Amino acid sequence: MMSIDLRSGHESSRPTAAYPDLAMLIDGRWVETGGRGIRSVEDPAILAPVGTVPLADERQLDEALAAAARSFNQWRHVSPRDRSAMLHRAAGLLRQRAERIATAMTMENGKPLVESLDEVAFSADIIDFLAGEAQRAYGASTSDGATRRITLTVEPIGPVAAFTPWNYPLIVPARKIAGALAAGCSIVIKPDEETPASAVALGQALVDAGLPDGVVNMVFGDPAAVSEHLIASPVIRKVSFTGSTRIGKRIAALASNGAKRTMLELGGHAPVIIFDDTDAASVARQAIGSKFHNAGQSCGSPTRFFVQEQVHDDFVAAFSEAASALTVRDGLDDGAQMGPLANRRRFDAMQPLVDDARDRGADLVIGGPMDRGGHFWAPTVLAGVDEAARAMNEEPFGPIALTSTFREVDEVVARANRLPYGLAAYVFTGSAATAALVPRALEVGMVGVNHFSLGGEDTFFGGVKESGYGSEGGPEGVGEYQVRKLIDEA
Ligand code: NAD
Repeated sequence: MMSIDLRSGHESSRPTAAYPDLAMLIDGRWVETGGRGIRSVEDPAILAPVGTVPLADERQLDEALAAAARSFNQWRHVSPRDRSAMLHRAAGLLRQRAERIATAMTMENGKPLVESLDEVAFSADIIDFLAGEAQRAYGASTSDGATRRITLTVEPIGPVAAFTPWNYPLIVPARKIAGALAAGCSIVIKPDEETPASAVALGQALVDAGLPDGVVNMVFGDPAAVSEHLIASPVIRKVSFTGSTRIGKRIAALASNGAKRTMLELGGHAPVIIFDDTDAASVARQAIGSKFHNAGQSCGSPTRFFVQEQVHDDFVAAFSEAASALTVRDGLDDGAQMGPLANRRRFDAMQPLVDDARDRGADLVIGGPMDRGGHFWAPTVLAGVDEAARAMNEEPFGPIALTSTFREVDEVVARANRLPYGLAAYVFTGSAATAALVPRALEVGMVGVNHFSLGGEDTFFGGVKESGYGSEGGPEGVGEYQVRKLIDEA
């Protein structure tokens, strides 16, 4: 259906009623009434409510915990083959329902429909991979050759409490749920209340794929109250969180009270090191798709562009030209290449970062707020940014690229490693020696060399330092939810 968006005056393909009714999933039942009422979900492109999500009270959280405890003792004994088959079926259902899920995702998060469709497809691939890993939970054995046989078994750790953010509202729940279920664990998950429909669609796909009651419980609520309650419960054996470093530290403190194993995937502030033995203008054009993906609201988003002196200006010119050519509009509109920021907090965070960088001498080449009714912020390039600028130290988590020059390898590695973050980095060089040396010197969990990719559904995703610990996805993504047991037999 086509309509005219009155705020911007351009044609909009916005459907009139595509956002679904939402409920919590507790012990196999869809619960529409939250003990703590409802919260509305806002579309960041039009600043209008599109739906509501129920908020759980303590009684409902306790029901979810009891269901996770009971179902764990059944699910852990379901054969890996059957667990795997159920997850594969759910992945297939996501693919079948991609159009509908992606539309709701764009309405709640703002990202262009093409990115939402990619996110559904990638989430299904992640689930398929982890489903395969369910069947590879091998242990080991050893013996002294005469009297003793030692067996090392792998077992599910127990019921999991998981908390996921709004920026990848399907990928992150998919990694946590599929990893836990593949290992034989049950889970209580609290997806972000601002982007609930994507996660609920995953819950529905799992139910339709034959998920036994109580194995996945999905609740919404006040984040602090829910996380405190769930993590304190003796039922929970493992905590998994993706979000900001600030909240991650709080979650880790809560989990440490019960000595509960924890996985944290937190913020990043990715450096991009561009040497003058590479085609800087070509790197600039490649960088656009990565920097402005999800309007820059990605923990691995390339942000600090360190460009060797001689090619810095070429890079800035090519990058700014390509960035200003991006079509920024409602993510549901045909041709949208970047949508609005996902919420008011991100929008409000941008201007102070830009102002501070300019006060410290940076050149604002392009970018700034857009006057079109939603949380639209144009692709922004700040050149020659001082290391002391706030944006060089705080994760912008928005469509802001910062450039700065460097001379020597040691100098740029030290500057790249300067922050407490350690998630992702990117290196561009024509020298095999530099390509071998620099990635090894960077204090991060993932490095892209001569491109902006960081693995796929078959590899882990995670960082070091204050970007967190543990890893999600890949074979390690199942190991996160397993414990080992040693059995020493005479
Ligand atoms: P925030 O720190 O308020 O919240 C981050 C996430 O944690 C949200 O999903 C929120 O619902 C959840 N949360 C907040 N308090 C919680 C609690 N006490 N218990 C459990 N969950 C809780 O920040 P925000 O404004 O939503 O996002 C901005 C910052 O968060 C960004 O600067 C970025 O660093 C970070 N972030 C990182 C990721 C990631 O992929 N690692 C994702 C989203 C946000």
